Amino acid sequence: MAAVRGWARPPPMRPARLVSSPQFRRGWWTWVAMRAGLAAGWLSRRLGLGAGVIIRGRVTLALCPSALSRLAAGRRVVLVSGTNGKTTTSHLLAAALRTAGPVAHNATGANMGDGAVAALAADPDAPVAVLEVDELHLAAVATAVDPAVVVLLNLSRDQLDRGSEVRAVAAALAGALSAHPDTVTVANADDPMVVWAATQSPRASTVWVSTGGRWNGDATSCPRCGTTLHGNGDRWRCRCGLARPAPHWVASEAAAVRDRHVIPVGLRLPGQFNLGNAVTAMAAAELMGVDPRRAAAAMSLLPDVAGRYAVVTYRERELRLLLAKNPAGWAEMLGVLDEARPLLVVVNAREADGRDTSWLWDVPFEEIAGRPVVAAGEHCADVGVRLTYAGVEHATVADPLAALALLPTGVVDVVANYTAFHQLRRRLTAAGGESTR
Ligand SMILES: [Zn+2]
Repeated sequence: MAAVRGWARPPPMRPARLVSSPQFRRGWWTWVAMRAGLAAGWLSRRLGLGAGVIIRGRVTLALCPSALSRLAAGRRVVLVSGTNGKTTTSHLLAAALRTAGPVAHNATGANMGDGAVAALAADPDAPVAVLEVDELHLAAVATAVDPAVVVLLNLSRDQLDRGSEVRAVAAALAGALSAHPDTVTVANADDPMVVWAATQSPRASTVWVSTGGRWNGDATSCPRCGTTLHGNGDRWRCRCGLARPAPHWVASEAAAVRDRHVIPVGLRLPGQFNLGNAVTAMAAAELMGVDPRRAAAAMSLLPDVAGRYAVVTYRERELRLLLAKNPAGWAEMLGVLDEARPLLVVVNAREADGRDTSWLWDVPFEEIAGRPVVAAGEHCADVGVRLTYAGVEHATVADPLAALALLPTGVVDVVANYTAFHQLRRRLTAAGGESTR
């Protein structure tokens, strides 16, 4: 067990209550907009255009711009935001909260206003909602839903053509939290950007979690004063006074440590980062009235998260499907890859991935040398150039299924970014790949 320094008791909170008033203030026009959205989603699925989630939310919002606040009224809402781990953490948290009652959840990862509307419309009577929210949309969604709890996981560079500089994102999150002084924030104490964002509001009530993340490449300088930070992980501090807060929860060696109590966390999802996600979800679940041990038991049953960490058998190969979409995500993922195992890297650069692939140069690909590697995806050439400079022997084949044929049979790690991952999942299913977990 890692040493836990500087314990602090969590701040006082409002009494948790899962049963909320059913008197949702929605109005007949919201109902009409919801129905129109559902019809549009159904049509989209029938025409094979997609899952129909985003179109459902967009149609509802086009007809009723206040639909999000109307659909959220009367519910207790948790928003989960940050650069990496939103989908996993929200799935873990939803599983924990479902032990106490129905939960609305944007499980497909549609994490802007339209996705939130679609999730709330799909579960109109659930008294509790868990909504994963893109960090650039947190302020707008929080204004609409007045969250009981906001979870802030981490902040790092992502989608360089679309996103802002990391400190600007942190400033926007700080503004969003300041506008909701009654909201309790569950925040990552190890991430200086998150700490700075969460401590900007003088009335903020924060539960700190030490997640044990590996990446600190976007917080080498202090977000408050700009000088170089000293230390990293669980020891960082700045001469201006900004420093890592004493955590209420620590993710450590397959357990959550809270106030010196050790609660075992037996996840089926791999890696320290997922343990950090789970402990963060336990902290949020406790605020929502669910006992942490009960939360841990529910989370341990989750076999995969929207296909991530799934194992698929395809043509004598057992594919471990992993998603990483930016340098921080890759840094965490490197910790769960087997050193001797063949690796397929699949990268696209569509709008949802970010068009700019220069992030590949910030991934420490040098660490994957020594195993059979194939670069695939629509931007396999960019990956190939990066791997060459990293000294990694590899082959480059655009089609990921054709690329697999170049790797040995047996267990293969597959790491793909966002659209590449979903594309590959669909193709594997169409080609007869069988999920074995
Ligand atoms: Zn400073």
